[in-house]
Order: sequence, then C-alpha cells, then structure tokens
Amino acid sequence: MYVPLLLAHLVVLVAEPAHVLAWSYGCVLAILCFTLFLSGRRLRISVVHNHPLWALLTLALVMQLAAFGLLLDDALSNPQGTLVAFDPTLYFCLSSLLLTIAAVYSPIGALRRWTSILDGILACAIAGLFYAFLHRLIGQGTSDTSTATLVMWTFDAMAVFVSACATLRFLATKRADERRFYFVLMIFSWAELLFPAVHNRFILSSESYVPELCLDLPFVMLGMLLCRRRTVWFRWYHPSRITRIVVGSVSPFVLSLALCLLAFAQFGHNTAVAVGAIILGITSYAVRVAVMLGHHLHLEGELKHLQRGLQQMVVRDDLTRMMNRRGFHRIFKREWERFSVSAQPLTVAMVDIDMFKVFNDTYGHLAGDDCLAAVGHALQKEASQHGGVTVARYGGEEFVVLITNRDHSAAERVLQRLRLAVEALQIQSRRSPHGVVTVSAGLATTTNHEKIEREKLLDAADKALYAAKRAGRNCVRWFSADSSIVELGQRGKTLGPGFRRGDDA
Ligand code: GH3
Ligand code: MG
Ligand code: MG
Repeated sequence: MYVPLLLAHLVVLVAEPAHVLAWSYGCVLAILCFTLFLSGRRLRISVVHNHPLWALLTLALVMQLAAFGLLLDDALSNPQGTLVAFDPTLYFCLSSLLLTIAAVYSPIGALRRWTSILDGILACAIAGLFYAFLHRLIGQGTSDTSTATLVMWTFDAMAVFVSACATLRFLATKRADERRFYFVLMIFSWAELLFPAVHNRFILSSESYVPELCLDLPFVMLGMLLCRRRTVWFRWYHPSRITRIVVGSVSPFVLSLALCLLAFAQFGHNTAVAVGAIILGITSYAVRVAVMLGHHLHLEGELKHLQRGLQQMVVRDDLTRMMNRRGFHRIFKREWERFSVSAQPLTVAMVDIDMFKVFNDTYGHLAGDDCLAAVGHALQKEASQHGGVTVARYGGEEFVVLITNRDHSAAERVLQRLRLAVEALQIQSRRSPHGVVTVSAGLATTTNHEKIEREKLLDAADKALYAAKRAGRNCVRWFSADSSIVELGQRGKTLGPGFRRGDDA
C-alpha cells in the first residue's frame, strides 16, 4: 500500500503540476490516513492496560492529520504556501506533546490515576504556553525566513526532547508488551526528528519539491512497525536496575521540565503567566514525589505485614493450626542454648495417637483429619495450662512436647495430663482396645547438656515412646538421658535401664 502511495507522491513532486503543494499534502494525508488506520487497529488488539499508550499515539496522528489538512487548505488558497502557518504549527506541537505524554505515562501501578491527573494538568498548561509562544513568534503565519528558521530550530529541539523521552522509556521498560509500544514510539519520534529536519532545511534552500517526500517517511516507518503484530524487538535486552532507577526518576520530571522551559520563554512578555507556570511545574513535581513517597510507605507497611504472615505460615501446621516441626526445631534450638548455660532440666516428649491407621481405615481419612485437629487442639489447650510447655505437630499423627525447668517426674505429670486430655475427648474408635482415641507418650529428660546431644534427646524420647506402645499404649514412659544415654547407644534395640514405667493412672 505504501509503495504506490510513495510513487504517486514522487511523480507529483517531479511533475510539479499546478497546485503541486496541495497535491503533495494530499499524498501525505493519504499515507497518514493509512497509518492512522493501522494505529487504530493496533489500539484495538493491544493489551487493555496499554490502551492509553496506543490511544495517545493515535491521537498524535490525528493532530498531524489536522495539521496537514490545514496545510492542504492553505496550499489550495495560496499555491506557494505560507512558509510557517500558525494553526498547522500548533497542531504539530500538540502532536509532540501527546507523544511526550505517551513516553512518560505509566500504564501500571496504583498511582496511575494520580499521575495521569497531574500529567493532564501539566499537558494543558504546556499546550497553553505553546499557543502563547507560537502566537507571539509567528502571529497568524509568516513568510519571514529568519522567523521560519527560529521555528525550525524550536521544532528540532522539541523533537529531540520527545525522542530522548521515548528512548529513555524504551531503555527502562521491562514488560514485553510495553517494550513493543516504546520501541515503535522511539523509532517514530526519531524519524519525526530526522526527516522533517531534512525537509525543513531543504525547503529553505532548494527550489525542488522532492524533499516533500521526507514528510511521508516517518508515517511509512510507523506503519511498517505497526503491521508487525507479535514481534518483541530487542528480546535479548534487559534493563539494568540502575537504568530503571535513573529513568524512573527522570520520567516524572519531564513534563514539569518542559513546562518550566516554556515558562522561561514567556519571561518579559507575560511574567505573571511565566511565574505561575514555573510554580505549577515545581509544585506538580513535589506533589508527585509526595504521592509516591506515601505510596511507598504504604507498600512498606503491607510488605512487613505480609512478611510477618509468611514467617508465621512457615512454622505453622495447616491442618491443626499448631506449630509444625520446623517451628519446634527453632524453639528447641533456642531452649537448648538457654539450657546449656542455665543447667535447668529440659524434657522432650514424643506423643503418638494410638492405632490411628485403624481409625483412618474405619472412619475414613477426613474423619482422621478432624480427629488429628481435635487431638492437637486438646494437647495445646492442656499445655497452655502449664508454664514452659510447648506442643507442636511433629508429622503424621505424632506430636512433640518441649518442657523446660521441670525434673522428669514433674514433666511426666504434665505428659499424663496431656494424655488424659486426649482421652477425655472421647472420640469413638471402636477397633481400639480402649474404645476411644488415645495417645502414648515417651519422654526424655536431661539436666546436663554435656552428657547428651540435642538430637539424641529426641531419639531417646522416640525410644521411650516405643516402650509405651509395647506396654499396651495409652500410657507414658520416660527415659533419663543423664543416666544411660551411652548405654542406650551401645545396646541398640534393647531398651536401656533408664526406662521407667510412668504412672498410668
Ligand atoms: P500405633 O499405635 O503403633 O502408633 O499405630 P498407628 O496406626 O497409629 O501407626 P502407623 O504408623 O501404623 O499409622 C499411622 C497412620 O497415621 C497412617 C497414616 O495414614 C495416618 N496419618 C498420618 N498423617 C495423617 C494425616 O495427616 N491425616 C490422616 N487422616 N491420617 C494420617
Ligand atoms: Mg500412631
Ligand atoms: Mg506414628
């Protein structure tokens, strides 16, 4: 589509018919309309949160359409064309402004609404100052070459500004869908800088109309990029942290800076407007920083809350809502360190639900889960009645109890209370010899950290638990680690003399 349009444009420029400029603008408009159509189609298929970005680009093209339409109108009434006409120039400026907004707009994030409102206010102020600036410079239009040169340089500076913003934004963008947009914007804005700059210089120095072809090229390039649907350009490029920080801090500043620069151009002509614009530029930036700071503080609070939740989740058992094995080991380690310096007795007990497999087989796993939760709750409730007693789910139908500052007989009494608390639940288990769900417990107590290692104490409690199971279940057995840990290790499967039958009453 672009090739025949470009050829037609070339033929018009070489043949130089009457109203050649009007014909030329007609060709540019045809190319622009086709690009606008492609941009509209791209807007329709874009990801929802990128709609504003593509809409801004499309709107910028509409502004250019208006500008070229006005140029065509001017060329029809004045075959030589006005060198710099006011209205088209203003529309070109508005197009650049929309591209700048697209370059600084953030489509994602909680602050999007606030920053968009601020950007909108700044954009209106910038557009107003543009209007005042251009009006002062060229009135309703000028054919004065020096004024045209000044306007040309202003346009170049503006285009550099837009291209720099688009490039910076492209360099800092991480998401593939956004990167696609900013790549298109970057190429288009650089093309809008280079080709019109070449065109403007030629029309001031050359008699030929061929340089008018330069006006087509940015739209042709844009159209070709818009046609390619799914490509992510520079797939290998990943912005570094530094780039993102630099661009993230520059982007919000861009519109304020543009407003302040335009305001400086107003000094001496309308000082009140200039001062007002500068105050607006600075204030908007300060408001932006304040809003961002507030948001970050809010996020920090939320993160801390989440972190606390996560820390709790890591040490909590889902089914019984009690501490899990990892949480127990943390506490056990801490208590062991304390015990190593205090030499107060420390007890570890393993508590296991009796014949739980049979319970599951009889009543099903869901009932088994409910039973586990009820037993865990009963153990925890009872443990909270005694100081220095910590219960955790060790795994499966086993629980572990940590008792501090109690000798083995006092610890054993606590274990008996825990066992009775489970029995008191009276959860029916018809295939169990006791008729209800019961637990067995084995405990190991030590007063001397030099005689036993931490893990060995757990091992001893586990062996005491097996002794309780062998003794008929629903009972407590204890093991004095201080007296016979060495003997236990040597005797392997045989239970050491440290085992005692607990009071099963
Ligand atoms: P003992 O009196 O010797 O301890 O016999 P037991 O049946 O309790 O012991 P065993 O190790 O043979 O079986 C343990 C059962 O615990 C097997 C397993 O299905 C059940 N179990 C382990 N974790 C869960 C759980 O989270 N939910 C349910 N419903 N059952 C579990
Ligand atoms: Mg069991
Ligand atoms: Mg078990």
